[in-house]
Amino acid sequence: MAARLTNVNLRKAIIETCLEMNASGLNQGTSGNVSARVRGGMLITPSGIPYGDLAPDQIVFVRDDGRADGPWRPSSEWRMHRDIYTGRAKAGAVVHVHSTMATALSCLRRGIPPFHYMVAVAGGTDVRCADYKLFGTQALSDAMLKALEDRSACLLANHGQIAFAPTLGKALWLAGEIETLAAQLVAASQIGDPVILDDDAMAEVLAAFKDYGKQPSAKQKAGA
Ligand code: 13P
Ligand code: ZN
Repeated sequence: MAARLTNVNLRKAIIETCLEMNASGLNQGTSGNVSARVRGGMLITPSGIPYGDLAPDQIVFVRDDGRADGPWRPSSEWRMHRDIYTGRAKAGAVVHVHSTMATALSCLRRGIPPFHYMVAVAGGTDVRCADYKLFGTQALSDAMLKALEDRSACLLANHGQIAFAPTLGKALWLAGEIETLAAQLVAASQIGDPVILDDDAMAEVLAAFKDYGKQPSAKQKAGA
């Protein structure tokens, strides 16, 4: 008898996230990958299977040591996902996409400077671009980890972007924010040289962000 499938709802939520990222235009085809942390490892999309064809049993459980369960090969980028969960305690989900504008900037080997205050959404004063390395390699994951220092998203040179957050919904939202910032930067750069916010301005933004969106009722619920 086949072993009972665990975390069925989370597997379905991963598939929903994939469908949404393609339907929203944030990604296309079998590019990109999505995962969520579970006890002892992560659940991650299989490699190279169209998202519309995915069934919950095809989402692969990969242990912390890299061993995968079951007949499906995990995403070629499982190392990037695994290394984020290992190094970043607040990561509950990871979304990697080849969104058009973020990818365009990454092809110029450019990150996103503080041309708009919203760059603080990834935790700092810019969104870095990781060095180019072959997809699916530990070298790419190492380059990504460097670019992610004190940040929750980065660009990947000549490739795309990656974002993490406590939940799948938030990780997908963050990837969308990064794409929007990239599109705004490209648009502004077509007209002239965007004015870059200085360190004092960004320090103010980062301080203000600590309280942004925290409604009194939510604070009460959280016991704050
Ligand atoms: P996978 O289909 O193996 O997840 O690869 C897609 C991708 O974006 C590689 O960087
Ligand atoms: Zn990719």
